[in-house]
Amino acid sequence: MMLAAQLCKKGAKGIALVDHNPRVGMKIKVSGGGKCNVTNQDVSEDNYLGESGFVRSVLQRYTPSELLDFLKERGVIPKVRSFGQYFCKKSADEVLDVLKADAQCATFLLTHKVVGINKVTDEYHITTDKGKIVAKHLVIATGSSAYPQVGGSDIGLKLAKELDHSFEKFSPVLVGWTVQKDQFWMKELSGISTWVSIDVGHKKLSGDLLFAHKGVSGPAVLSASLYWKKGLVNIDFLPDRTLKEVLQDRKKQVSTQLQLSKRLVKNLLQSIEVEDKVVKKLTEDEWEKLALLKAYPMSPAGNFGLKKAEACRGGVDTSEINFDTMQSRLHENLYFIGEVIDVTGELGGYNFQWAFSSAVVCAQALERKLLV
Ligand SMILES: Cc1cc2nc3c(=O)[nH]c(=O)nc-3n(C[C@H](O)[C@H](O)[C@H](O)COP(=O)(O)OP(=O)(O)OC[C@H]3O[C@@H](n4cnc5c(N)ncnc54)[C@H](O)[C@@H]3O)c2cc1C
Repeated sequence: MMLAAQLCKKGAKGIALVDHNPRVGMKIKVSGGGKCNVTNQDVSEDNYLGESGFVRSVLQRYTPSELLDFLKERGVIPKVRSFGQYFCKKSADEVLDVLKADAQCATFLLTHKVVGINKVTDEYHITTDKGKIVAKHLVIATGSSAYPQVGGSDIGLKLAKELDHSFEKFSPVLVGWTVQKDQFWMKELSGISTWVSIDVGHKKLSGDLLFAHKGVSGPAVLSASLYWKKGLVNIDFLPDRTLKEVLQDRKKQVSTQLQLSKRLVKNLLQSIEVEDKVVKKLTEDEWEKLALLKAYPMSPAGNFGLKKAEACRGGVDTSEINFDTMQSRLHENLYFIGEVIDVTGELGGYNFQWAFSSAVVCAQALERKLLV
């Protein structure tokens, strides 16, 4: 829709927007708890999993402030919340309505499920469940398989394969973790949330961790899940403070000084096998165990799956896409934009910014080619 919006502005004709959903932009609609976290104050390649040079180049060509200006000119002024995240004031429809209005010049072919593709000389023959569509220029913007309940699918990778592109299969990220037996105590705390920092090897992600009946979720876990493949992560339940700072008062009980929810403290202490007592009575061995509260080792069993995931890792190989134009390096007039590419952002507005930036880069290339 952003691509169509940009091209419509320049007087383009003959654009068809094909979607198997009965309505466009369903992921926008359900995003950010219905308020669409559209971008972030602070966006760089460091917030993404993907080839950093590729990501940087695309993001620099259409920045968050350009996106915010685009929305502002159309009467939408998202509000900044914690972590520099911009959300719509009332609802995600604010963004959706702008895109729909600006993409008016396009023909919307809704409830058209794309099933395959053929390149016939210099044309793309797209097979849908409602018949064939022939295009001279084709932009694949089919996102990822995350949230199939609103239309997420891996059709983009199937099409890429039919056109000889390399890709990494999709797997769910920005998703909660299921837990191993050792951490089943976490499930008993379902509904409690606590501020943590999660160390996933080369990255540390801070935010709320929410205990859920299947495992752990919440912003910190969702962001960390982007970087986790398997193995151990370390959770700091007392971020920004040393253990000594937390347990300053030697005459008070450990539990009262942790400043965490009572039930969490009880289960945490049980899990690290430390008895609650006044600080001055702690043995050296107990101090060592308590240090685990700053680096609680946990090996997630898996994740909550595609139906709960806000994005997918994987996608079309960036080495086969030109970052100046988003055009395929294998086929003239074939383009990829958005989440179908092997670039995925952290939680916080990074994925929409990526989708919009790559759409604008592609629109500029198509404009140079077709409209100048
Ligand atoms: C619950 C949820 C909340 C999210 N919240 C945020 C947020 O607040 N901020 C943020 O930055 N990101 C968020 N995301 C991620 C963001 O929605 C995606 O990264 C973004 O929508 C990707 O844009 P896209 O245009 O590449 O793909 P999409 O928006 O997924 O669009 C792809 C389109 O292709 C269509 N399609 C798929 N298969 C077929 C087919 N076979 N035939 C025809 N059409 C097909 C789909 O119906 C869809 O309309 C969220 C995602 C989810 C699931």
